[in-house]
Amino acid sequence: MVIILGVKLSKKDRFISVRWKLVSTYLLLFIITLLIINFFVYNALLDMYIQERENDMMTEADILSKRVNYFLTMDTTFELDTFLTSKVEAYSKDINSRVIIVDKYNRVKSDSNNDCKGETFKHTEIKKALQGIKNSNIYNFKDVGYVMYVAVPIEYDGKIIGTTLISTSLEDIYNAVGQIGSKLRIISILSILLIAVISFVFASYLFQPIKEFKKAITKLSQGDLNYKIKINTRDEFDELANTFNSMSTKLNEVDIQRKDFVANVSHELRTPLSSIKLLSESLLHQNEGNIMIYREFLGDIDSEIDRLNNIITELLTLVDLDKEKLQLNYKITYVNFLLEKVVAQLKPLAEKRKIKLKFVEKEKIQIKIDADKIQQAIINIIDNAIKYTADGGKVEVSLYTENKYVMIRIKDNGVGIPKESISNIFDRFYRVDKARSRKTGGTGLGLSIAHQVITLHQGNIRVESEIGKGSIFYIAIPYNI
Ligand code: ADP
Repeated sequence: MVIILGVKLSKKDRFISVRWKLVSTYLLLFIITLLIINFFVYNALLDMYIQERENDMMTEADILSKRVNYFLTMDTTFELDTFLTSKVEAYSKDINSRVIIVDKYNRVKSDSNNDCKGETFKHTEIKKALQGIKNSNIYNFKDVGYVMYVAVPIEYDGKIIGTTLISTSLEDIYNAVGQIGSKLRIISILSILLIAVISFVFASYLFQPIKEFKKAITKLSQGDLNYKIKINTRDEFDELANTFNSMSTKLNEVDIQRKDFVANVSHELRTPLSSIKLLSESLLHQNEGNIMIYREFLGDIDSEIDRLNNIITELLTLVDLDKEKLQLNYKITYVNFLLEKVVAQLKPLAEKRKIKLKFVEKEKIQIKIDADKIQQAIINIIDNAIKYTADGGKVEVSLYTENKYVMIRIKDNGVGIPKESISNIFDRFYRVDKARSRKTGGTGLGLSIAHQVITLHQGNIRVESEIGKGSIFYIAIPYNI
């Protein structure tokens, strides 16, 4: 087992870690490049030296052909023969190669090695040279190694009368190029080792941020939702870290909201339950059965149960609205009729407190909405306007259009909302004055529901308010949803 970047890998897995993959890819690419370079350098050098040797030998064979052509035209005499042999031997020494002169009948006239004189040679090179073509070939003999044969025609008076054949060893070239090749191989191996070390160190550096990511993910899974990755690589890892950090911020916010919500729900449910418990205990401890007291206490218990019921119904509505894939039941609706209906429904409530509830319609407006949900949202806001307005006050509902929005305005001359509370009134369970809201039967969920419904319609809701003067709620719903 080894530990790479803090990740425990088994022996089998070690070679498939990303770092290893990266290092081996670098190395493989480098090795392939080196092999190609070595191959081409070796062959190019060999070709160059052999070409040079061939040219040299051709020139030498040409010169000799011109020097001996005259002797080949004459009948062989002892003197002539000796003269030719000494010339060929001297030449052979000069160029350090075997030199053979063959006449047009393929007979060896002279051989610097003195081995084959008088024999008939039918080498391809000689055949071609007798046809007037200078040519050469390379052979690899088991005992002597690489040898080059160069054959050049001997001409006299425009006729081909023989061939000069030079056989020269190429072993010196192969040895010299082989030595260069060995040096290249050593340099290559050393550079591979160097590249291996550099790429390993580089890969470690490159993968350093992964350690941070692993730590952050572990922290997150352990519940530290606010953990932030601190790296400064100015590359994709940086971007990833920023995305991760915004995700953890969001998760943390959601977690705080969830905890607050659970705490609020528990608190809101416990308050009426405690009252019920207190009232029922008092009833249990009553010694004499006073029917009036029983009635009063049971009445209180009844209203606390209503309150519990309201909270649970509104919570369930919110849970419904929170559903990710909530399908709104869109229908073309006359908003005028909808508002008339709501105002008529709430009128008795307003009249009870001598509040004037008025609906002002500036135009007839038809729009595609989920009428039930919008109606619920508007009821909540008008109900608030009545609740938070003193007896004898005024609530006015108006309908009009503004740009591409249908506007519903609910204006009251009630208690107003303090500036610092305006941004919170749409939060779940938020109430400016808890005692007052409780007295009026508020749950602190009405505006959250309204906000959620309007947002689902891609609209918006805003408030203008002044303490002691009243509040105006503006609902804007886009025409084209
Ligand atoms: P509640 O059930 O308490 O009315 P809401 O979510 O409907 O809860 O409203 C949240 C709070 O906003 C209320 O408790 C109240 O303090 C304030 N509020 C809402 N509407 C008005 C209004 N028209 N005038 C003054 N205060 C208001």
